[in-house]
Amino acid sequence: MHQTLAPEVRNAGDDADDRRAHWNPQQETMPAAQMRELQTRKLKQHLAYLAQHSALYQRKFAESGFDPAGLRSIEDLVHLPFTTKADLRDGQESHPPFGLHQAAPMDKIIRVTSTAGTTGRPVFQGYAREDVMRRNESIARGLWGFGVRPGDRVINGFALSMFNAGIPFCTGIEHLGAIDIPVGAERKAEGMLMVARDMKATVWIGTPSFAGFLAEKCQEVLGIPPSELGLRVVCGGGESGFEQPAFQKKMETAFGTHHIYDWASTSDAHPNVFAHCEHRQGKHHLTPDFALVELIDPASGKILPMEDGAEGEYIFTHLDRRACPLARYRTGDILRVYTKPCACGRTGFRMDIVGRSDDMLIIRGVNLFPSAIQSVVGGFAPKASARLQIVLDQPGPKVEPPLRVRIEHAPGLGAAELADLRAGIEQAIRAKLTVTAKVELVPPGGIARTETKTRLVIVEAQS
Ligand SMILES: [Zn+2]
Repeated sequence: MHQTLAPEVRNAGDDADDRRAHWNPQQETMPAAQMRELQTRKLKQHLAYLAQHSALYQRKFAESGFDPAGLRSIEDLVHLPFTTKADLRDGQESHPPFGLHQAAPMDKIIRVTSTAGTTGRPVFQGYAREDVMRRNESIARGLWGFGVRPGDRVINGFALSMFNAGIPFCTGIEHLGAIDIPVGAERKAEGMLMVARDMKATVWIGTPSFAGFLAEKCQEVLGIPPSELGLRVVCGGGESGFEQPAFQKKMETAFGTHHIYDWASTSDAHPNVFAHCEHRQGKHHLTPDFALVELIDPASGKILPMEDGAEGEYIFTHLDRRACPLARYRTGDILRVYTKPCACGRTGFRMDIVGRSDDMLIIRGVNLFPSAIQSVVGGFAPKASARLQIVLDQPGPKVEPPLRVRIEHAPGLGAAELADLRAGIEQAIRAKLTVTAKVELVPPGGIARTETKTRLVIVEAQS
């Protein structure tokens, strides 16, 4: 076991040179062909492990006729059916607490995290000791790329209670050799700001909305602007924000640093992670040695080539997760991938999350994500605001054109300006997306706000 782990998991102090650009240069800059070889070898081993230990995969292999021992290349994986959120929920009902896919016995599991349960019962994940080590490793790779080094004082501002970015991030920070300050979102903004000042924190991680809130409250709580806090790196994820140039700029100005970085991982996917490097041209897949990523067309389930600019649903297969491994798991996240080389030297592809597969529409056989409409409308700012909704007559994904798009316009526009704006947006959508749209402009505040987030796609009978 430890022999196979040796090159993949580094320890602080393995290399005395903290000036190196990558936490684990061998893994992070491995040539693609060599990585593919490593993935193939690990995949074979891991499928054999699933066949032996996971009841869910024993059943899936049997039902589909997939023979894990017969796998010759990664391409053969296409014959294995997907695993879905429903598999996990059903499995946890019948086999609590972790579900039918659990592959390590209870006496090998040393940690539990759970999803927030915002869309149903929380789903629990168990970690074996090796899973914790790889999670530490993946966090260290990401943080190192943000410029975090031993000696840095790192505040974990994520929720600590059960959350997969709580305690796991704390131990990841310790694994890197930096100083873990486990404040947690539970401490609220005021308490967190005081600890940041007293501990002279240099790095902060958490959700972008919390970072924005800290910036707003700093003057009031501490009597200094956030730029005087001394934070050199502000990063995290868990929601959209840190990847958006406008928010990056805002945070750069507020905290007086250009090291504003985004992180993306899905709770069930750990230790698989994506994170910015200093160039912020999409988030690197930092752990191709821990999980295989495929892109699929969410409607047909067909694999899409991993080409620059490709968009599709992100599915992953763990290559060595022991406790709760998943194979060909559908995350529902839609990625746009970038495959051109990055100046940082990391070889994994890069990506941004552009939507959820649930939001995908099919218009005359063409897949369309609401994010594509958002990006066209974004070209009409500030006259058109970013607040918009796609209005369907009946539930998607199939939609008969014209596509109804409701957009809030800026205050103070006259009738002629509004007519021009409407025509301009309709024309741009047709030109760029080959979709006929019917734009309805509404005054500021015309799209209902909810306590959570505004739905991008709604169903509303035509009046
Ligand atoms: Zn890079």
